[in-house]
Formats: sequence, structure tokens, C-alpha cells
Amino acid sequence: MKPLIAGNWKMNGLQAARCEIEALIRKFAGSAPDDRDVLICPPATLLANFASEYADEAIQIGAQDCHAETSGAHTGDISAEMLADAGAAYVIVGHSERRADHGETDQVVMSKAQAVLRAGLTPIICVGETREQREAGKALDVVGTQLAGSLPKTGEEIVVAYEPVWAIGTGLTPTLEDIGEMHDFLRSKTPVNTRLLYGGSVKPGNAKEILAVTNVNGALVGGASLKADDFYPIVQAST
Ligand code: PEP
Repeated sequence: MKPLIAGNWKMNGLQAARCEIEALIRKFAGSAPDDRDVLICPPATLLANFASEYADEAIQIGAQDCHAETSGAHTGDISAEMLADAGAAYVIVGHSERRADHGETDQVVMSKAQAVLRAGLTPIICVGETREQREAGKALDVVGTQLAGSLPKTGEEIVVAYEPVWAIGTGLTPTLEDIGEMHDFLRSKTPVNTRLLYGGSVKPGNAKEILAVTNVNGALVGGASLKADDFYPIVQAST
């Protein structure tokens, strides 16, 4: 399965953004690696600009969230159709920061994922347990419930990102055995064409071993996607 290495810039990326994305493209010598997909999800304000400027370049552009409706009275929101119009190829839904900051439930995440598919884009649906849940031995149960509640039943392509909440932005990662156990579980619960990403403190120094775990088909990278010098070696580690 072709790996997908996705960068989630979150609410970062003012002046530095353009030079980092250009530096990344220069590292690919202007052409897309054909054995893996590379994606950057910048803040919505940069999306259309990046997608039009870099459309034929080495990377694809995605969004970090969308509204479930096509249009309407939803001040401040952006629909999946608008993201498609702006040039997005993927949309992250159900990131743990959205689940925590905006109270997004599995049902909301499911509607957003369906909206992404409706717009002809690919959803990257995030799931993952908290530290307390892992320590209580409930990680598989929690993630199983999230999968059942937030994954649309579809034959179309979806991507699932396993992101343990306690590993995001902390420098902590699960053991390779724990990642392997969770990804085997995800594989047993998702359609065969679903790419399964690991996310949570992926860095140049740990990317190779994480990406080598069975049923890990790529990575969702936060902090280390902001600098081309960090993100590029992670992309290179995916072969
Ligand atoms: C993320 O926010 O999706 C993420 C994985 O962040 P980080 O790589 O910084 O842990």
C-alpha cells in the first residue's frame, strides 16, 4: 500500500510558511515521489493559495476540518465543497484537539467524514485514547468505539489516523509493540483499501522504526511538519 505522509500545521504558519513549503518542494527537486503520497494541511487561510501555487508540485494540500453541511447559516465554518473548490485533496476530521476544544462527538466526526466524501475528497479520520484510558487497559475498546461511531460505511477511500492523545505534541510515543497491536486491530476493523496512519510525536529520529511496523501505512505529523528539514527525512523514512 502506498504510504501517505501528512503534515498537520494546526494554527501555525505565518511568514515562515511559504519558505518552508518551498524548501520542502526544492528537496523533492520539484517532482512528486511516485512511491508515496505527501500532504500538507496548512491553516485554511493558506490553503487556496498553496493549492493553486503548488498544484503541480511534489505535494498535495489538505484541510484540517470542515463543516458537515454544504452551505448555510454557519458563521465561521467552511464546507467540504468549499475546500474542494479551494484545491484540497484530503480533509482531517475528528482530530483530538477538535474533539476536545469543540466537543466533537463520534457522530459529528462521522457527518464530517461523510461530507468530505460527498465533496469528492478523502477524509483522514482521527481516533486515539487518552493516557488514563491506556493505563486502564482500555485503548482497544476506546478506539473500537470511536471507529464504530465515526467511520462512514463506504467503499470509497478513507484514511484512518491512530493518534494517542497523550502522544500528541508531548515527545512521548507508544512502544512499537503497542503501535503494532493497535494497527493490527485497526486493520481488522477497516476496509482493505484504508491507509492506517500513526500520529503522535513522529520525528526524524523515530520515523523509520514506526513506519516499519506492520499495518502502519504512513504518518500524520504535527510539530515536525513545520520545518522542511524535519519533515523531509520523515517522508524519506517511509520507503
Ligand atoms: C497531530 O497533531 O496530529 C500530531 C501528531 O502532532 P505531533 O506530531 O506534534 O505530536
